[in-house]
Amino acid sequence: MPRFQWNKLLKPSSPSVNNSSTDLDYVATDRQFVEGHLDPVYLLDVDGHLIDFNEKLALLLGYSKEELFQHYAAFMTTEEVERTLPYFHRVLQGSEETYTVEVLHKSGRPLTLRVTNIPKFEHQLIVGVYGIARDITEDKQLRKQLEHLFIERELFRDTSNLLSFTIQQDGHLTERNSSFNKSIGTNVTTLDQLIGFLHREDVLSFMTAYEEARTSEQIEHAFSFRLGRANTESHYIGKFVGHDGMVRAAFSDETQIVRLSEAYEESNERLQDLYKHSGASIYRRDLATGQLEFYTDEFESLFGVTPDMMKKNPKACHHVIHRNDRQKVRVAHDRADAGEEVRMYYRTVKDGQTNWIEERLVPKRNADGAVVSVISICYDATRLKHQEEQIWQLAMYDSLTGLPNRSLFLRELEDWMDTYTHVAVLTLSFNSIHAINRDFGYAVGDDWIVATTSALLDCIPKGSFVGHLGGDEYGILIPHCLEESEMVQYCQPLIRLNDQYIRVGPYEWCPSISIGVSRYPEDTDVPVELLQYANTALGRTQGTKMEPIVFYASNFNIDSYRRHQLGNDLRRAIEEHELFLEFQPKVDAWSGRIVGAEALVRWQHPEWGRIPPSDFIPLSEETELHIKLADWVLHETCRCLQAWQSQDLPVVPVSINISPKRLLHGNFAETVIRALRRSNIPPSLLEIEILETDVLSDNLKIHETLDRLSDANIRIALDDFGTGYSSLSYLQRYPIKTIKIDQQFARDLHANKKTQSIVRTILFMADEFGMDVVVEGVETLEQLMILRRLNCRIIQGYLFSRPLDIRNFESALENRFLSTTETGPHVSRQSFSLDAAVTIHKLHDREVTVGSTPILLTKSSLRSLHFYATVRLPIADTIELKITLTHRGEQLALLVSPNSMIELENGIFEYEASFLETGDAHRIVIALQERMNTP
Ligand code: C2E
Ligand code: MG
Ligand code: MG
Repeated sequence: MPRFQWNKLLKPSSPSVNNSSTDLDYVATDRQFVEGHLDPVYLLDVDGHLIDFNEKLALLLGYSKEELFQHYAAFMTTEEVERTLPYFHRVLQGSEETYTVEVLHKSGRPLTLRVTNIPKFEHQLIVGVYGIARDITEDKQLRKQLEHLFIERELFRDTSNLLSFTIQQDGHLTERNSSFNKSIGTNVTTLDQLIGFLHREDVLSFMTAYEEARTSEQIEHAFSFRLGRANTESHYIGKFVGHDGMVRAAFSDETQIVRLSEAYEESNERLQDLYKHSGASIYRRDLATGQLEFYTDEFESLFGVTPDMMKKNPKACHHVIHRNDRQKVRVAHDRADAGEEVRMYYRTVKDGQTNWIEERLVPKRNADGAVVSVISICYDATRLKHQEEQIWQLAMYDSLTGLPNRSLFLRELEDWMDTYTHVAVLTLSFNSIHAINRDFGYAVGDDWIVATTSALLDCIPKGSFVGHLGGDEYGILIPHCLEESEMVQYCQPLIRLNDQYIRVGPYEWCPSISIGVSRYPEDTDVPVELLQYANTALGRTQGTKMEPIVFYASNFNIDSYRRHQLGNDLRRAIEEHELFLEFQPKVDAWSGRIVGAEALVRWQHPEWGRIPPSDFIPLSEETELHIKLADWVLHETCRCLQAWQSQDLPVVPVSINISPKRLLHGNFAETVIRALRRSNIPPSLLEIEILETDVLSDNLKIHETLDRLSDANIRIALDDFGTGYSSLSYLQRYPIKTIKIDQQFARDLHANKKTQSIVRTILFMADEFGMDVVVEGVETLEQLMILRRLNCRIIQGYLFSRPLDIRNFESALENRFLSTTETGPHVSRQSFSLDAAVTIHKLHDREVTVGSTPILLTKSSLRSLHFYATVRLPIADTIELKITLTHRGEQLALLVSPNSMIELENGIFEYEASFLETGDAHRIVIALQERMNTP
C-alpha cells in the first residue's frame, strides 16, 4: 500500500470560532465520550495522527492499540486519502462532516465505514478532530444483492417464454410477469381462475405440487403441466417455491420442444415403417464395440442367419458368402471402416443355390469427423445380375459364332495388358467371305462363318483368346511375345487350314488364311491401336499366300523395323521437305525428242537414305497421309511447270501418279483444276496416271472424278497396263487417253514372240480407240528396234534416260532431244568374301534390338570395310551397326558406322562402313587374306 505523505497535504489551520458552546462542553469530557461510545470513536490531532480511540476501533480494524497510534492515512489507500482530505480540511475549519470511507482491515480486507467528524476545540481553537465510525460493509453488500435481485426480477418479468407469478396465502396471484399476462390474460388474478386454464388431466398434479410448496417452505417442487386443450395446448415445465405461506412459481414454455420431439417420434416411426417394407437387410455396426444393431429382419432371408446369431457372432454369415468373394467382402468392410462409401456385388451359396447380393456400406462420422459406425444395406440382386448377364451376352458376344465380339475382345486385351508383360495380337482372315456372299448368297456366307469358327477353335494355340471381329475375320490374343520364327511356328496349325477344304452346305471351299500381328508393348500400349496395327499388318498380307504372317513392326527383322520407322517418319517427311520429284522423260522412238515426262516422287530420309516410292507409298496408304502426299506431288509438279514456262523452256506434258484411293477422297478433280488455274498452266500439260486395280471396277465416284478431269481437258493414262486385272472394258468405260504398257513386256520383247504379238495387238487397239501408247522400261537398243518395228511411237526407259532431278531435267528440256545410252547391269561382287551377319546396334545413342541379316564381307582396310546386303540399312553417324562372323571357330563381333551405300541393279546394296573400335580391323583383314589364299 503506498504510504501517504501527510505533511504535504496539511494546510495550516486557521483558528476558527465555533459558536456552539454546547458541543464544546460536551467534548470537554472527551475521555468519557471516547470510551463510552457504542460505536468505534477516535481522536486525531490537527495533523491527522490518531491520538486517542476506544477499543471498538481496535476491534474493527484488527490492530493492537500500539499499532493504531499512527496517521490515519496509514489505514487507507492513497486514492481514498485524497478523496476524503477535503472533509478533513473542512472539519479543521469548524464544520461537522459525515461521509463514507473505505479503510483497510489489518488482514487487507476492505471495510466500508460511515464516518462523522467533529472538530475538538480547546480555548476556542481547534486542536483535533473526533471521529465516530460505523461499519456499513455488510449493508453495502446487501444493497448490491438487492440491486442484483431487482435486475434479475426485471429480466425475469420480460422473458417471453417464462411464466412467473406469486400465489398469495389467500389464493390471489400477484407479481404476474408480462408473459403470464400475454399467455393467460390480465384478468386471471386468482388461483381458481388459473386452474380453469389447466389441462384437465394436469389439475391434480398442479394442486398437489402447490400444496406441498405452500406447506413445506423453501423446497422446490418441479413438475410439468399443460395449458389449453387439444391442438392449442402449451406445455410448461418449472417449479413452485414456498415461503411464508406464499408460493412463488416460475414455468418455462416447452411447447416447441414437445412438438419437435413428437414430430421426431413420428418420423422415426415412419422410418421404421420404411425399413420394414424396404425388402433390404439394414444394420449398423458400431466400430468401437463391434456390436450390430439391426433395423430390419431381412438379413435372415438373404443369408439364412438370424440377426440374433449375428449379434452374438458378427462373422456368423461368412460361410454363406461364396468362397471366391470372401476376400472382396472383407476388403470392402475394411475400406468402409476407413471412411469410404463402398458398393459391391458378391455371391452367396445357400442350400446349394447361388444368389447375388448388392451391399452398400455407408460410414457414419461423429462431429469430429471420425468414423464411429458403418451402416450396411443389402439387397437380393440375383435377378438384376441375371438380366445384366443377358444384356452383357447380347452386347458382347456375336450371335452367329457365339464368340466374344470386338468390344469384348478389346476389353480382354486391356485386361491381358494388365496381367502379362507381353501380348501378341493376331488378326486372322479366311479371306473368302466376300466371294462366298457374292457367289452363293448370305445364308451360305453365314454357314461359312460358323464353319470357319469351328475350324479355327480346333487349332488355336493353347492359352490364347479368340474373338470375332466381323465376316470371316478373327482376333486372337497370345500371352507371350515369341521370336518371329517361333511365332510362325506357333501359327503353323492355323496356316495349315489353307491346305484343307472347309465344307459349307453342299460346297467345299479352300480358305486363304493370312495373319497380321502387332505386339504389346513394342508397338503401342493402347488396346485400340494394337488391334488397328494388327489389322494394318493383315492388310499387307491380304490375299497373298506368299507371306501369310506379317508383323506390324518388328524388332526381329531389319526390314519390318525399317518399315515401322518410316511409317512414323512419313508425316514429318512431307512437312520438312524431305520429299522431292524426279522427272523421267518420255521420248519419240525415232527422233529421241522429249514429248513428255513422268513425275516420280523421292524421299531422302535423314537416316535410311533414299527410300524408293514402292516402300513408302503403300505405307502412306495405310493412313490418311496418302492424300497429303498426292496433293504435294500435284502442287510441286504445277510449281515446276510454272517455273519452266516462265523460263521459256520448251515445256512438255507431265504425268503424275495418283492412287485410286486418292480419287475416292473429297473432290479431287476440283483440287487439280484449281491447282492448274492458280499456277496458270493449261490443262493439256498435266496427265494423271492411274493403276489398274480392282478399285477401278465400277466405282461411281472414281468414274465421275475421271470424267470431270477429262472434261477439263486433263489427260488420263492407264499405268502398268497388262499386269493387273486388265479388262478391255476399262478402256471403253473410262475416259482414258494413254495406255502405258508395263515394263515386263519391254523386258520380254526380244525373247518372246507372244509378247510381241500382245504389244502389237495393244498398239492396234489403241490406234482404233484413238489413244496414245507409251512403252515403259525400255533399256536396250534391241528392245527399241523391235518397238520401232511394231510402230510404237513413245518410249520411256533407261535407254534414253533415268529419272532426272530438276536441274538435269531442265537441261534435257533445253536440249529437247535425248540420245540412247545403253548400259549393262552393274556387277561389283568380289571373288573372295566372308559370310557374316549385320544388325542395327544403336540409333541416336539408343540401343535397338533387331535380328540380324546375312551379308558378304568383301574388302577391309584398317579403317573401314565393305559388305553386300539384300536389305537397305540407314546411313548416318548416329547409327552403329554390329557385324558378327565366325573366324577359326571363334565368334567375332565388330561395331561399325555406315558411311555410304550404292544401290545395285539386282536388289543388292553395297556398303562401306568405318570401324568404331580399331582393334577389330586387323582381324578382318587377316580373315579376308586367309580367304583369298584359300583355293
Ligand atoms: P510407275 O508409275 O510405273 O513408274 C515407273 C517406274 O519404272 C519408276 O520407278 C521408274 O524409275 C522405273 N523405270 C523407268 N524406266 C525404267 C527402265 O528402263 N528400267 C527399269 N528397271 N525401271 C524403269 P520408281 O520411280 O521406283 O516408281 C515405282 C512406282 O512407284 C511407280 O511406277 C509408281 O507406281 C509409283 N510412284 C512413283 N511416284 C509416285 C507418285 O508420285 N505417286 C504415286 N501414287 N505413285 C508413285
Ligand atoms: Mg507411272
Ligand atoms: Mg508404270
